Amino acid sequence: MPTAVPTRDALITEVLEVLLEQDQIGLPPTTADLERRIPVPCEDVTGAVEALRADGTVEVRGDGLGLTPTGRERAVTAVRRHRLTERLLADVLGLEWWKVHHEAARLEGMLSEDLEARVLDLLDDPGTCPHGNPIPGSANQPSHPDAVTLAEAPLGPVHIVRITETLEGDDEALQLLQNCGFVPGRDAEVKEQRDGWALVAGTVRDAALPPHVAAHTYVAPR
Ligand SMILES: [Zn+2]
Repeated sequence: MPTAVPTRDALITEVLEVLLEQDQIGLPPTTADLERRIPVPCEDVTGAVEALRADGTVEVRGDGLGLTPTGRERAVTAVRRHRLTERLLADVLGLEWWKVHHEAARLEGMLSEDLEARVLDLLDDPGTCPHGNPIPGSANQPSHPDAVTLAEAPLGPVHIVRITETLEGDDEALQLLQNCGFVPGRDAEVKEQRDGWALVAGTVRDAALPPHVAAHTYVAPR
């Protein structure tokens, strides 16, 4: 569970992040899916979804929720600024990668178009945020077609590709990953899987990662 409660704007960005991710794989999520994926009280998620429907960002699509064309544009901008801000905090200010999500949520609203262009330049158009999630519009998008969740990964050496938005707000999970050295961008090993748990050898030590962490951490066999 998160230790910081997101502001309303930050929560809207989180909802847009999940909607954009699902939009890209063609699976419109239901409100219940969003509530499961975003670790804040359900009524806060419902309220954010209602606001996004009211202003034309989100529409009902079948059983789920999709982004309208203007909604998609808004989501792409919000997600890009959030992930760029995370990069800025990690790469320039040296904030630990596992702390940047909440800090970025407080700062990302300050990024104007002008400032965003400066940050892009300064950071040399980074392809991902520190959690490994792609920055929309970057010319340096990573390609990991063989990435699978830790729960489904073959045993043996892997490259840690990314952790999903669901885990980004989960401080306890991030510290567990940090403490054993199972960090996006590094190499590690999958030693065993049982009942959704994954036993891994990180760069620091071995650790047993619980099912909700294994299901939201993507690795590529190497
Ligand atoms: Zn991130």
